[in-house]
Amino acid sequence: MQVKLLTNILKANKDLADTNRTIFHKAGIKVINLISSPGAGKTTLLENTIENLSSCLSLGVIEGDLQTTKDGERIAQLGVPVVQINTQGGCHLDANMVNQALTELPLEDIQLLFIENVGNLVCPASFALGEDAKVVITSVPEGSDKPAKYPIIFEKAQICLLNKIDLLPYTNFNRREFYEDLQKINPSLTVFEVSVLTGEGMGAWYSWVKKI
Ligand code: MG
Ligand code: ZN
Repeated sequence: MQVKLLTNILKANKDLADTNRTIFHKAGIKVINLISSPGAGKTTLLENTIENLSSCLSLGVIEGDLQTTKDGERIAQLGVPVVQINTQGGCHLDANMVNQALTELPLEDIQLLFIENVGNLVCPASFALGEDAKVVITSVPEGSDKPAKYPIIFEKAQICLLNKIDLLPYTNFNRREFYEDLQKINPSLTVFEVSVLTGEGMGAWYSWVKKI
């Protein structure tokens, strides 16, 4: 019974994600869905990306959080159109929430829309939003076992950002384990090792974003 229910929910979500995709396509907007556990650095990544790219691309942001408008306020300070979704305890964004948020954004002025999902490596992987690409962010202090333990998001993502690479000397992060597991899960996944704090490795990320 429960399996059937979940299938129905995901089917309804997929239909709405297709509706969103049509809206994005008509408006000429590319969409990136940012997924990570809490504290991996999504919002700081967004702040730096906006600072670096907003002169050549018009950007928009949808912020997903359980509670608060803290992240939305950080993004709004940079002068980028942003809508904050509060899921009231829900652990992922779904296509319907994004669909409603779109009515609050100046779509005609946006070329690239970032959706910062709720911090969670599990179910955001299963709920399409209408995005062109999923980007998974994981960070060195979280450990090198994350791909093996949460394979679905690493399987579905086009890009993996390994953040906080500057902390490598202070942890037992095992690069070999990390890359061997990724190779088994998704051999075509591109990994950028970055530090959103120091800026290390961010050039490759910016280049990818510009080409999407
Ligand atoms: Mg955040
Ligand atoms: Zn969830």
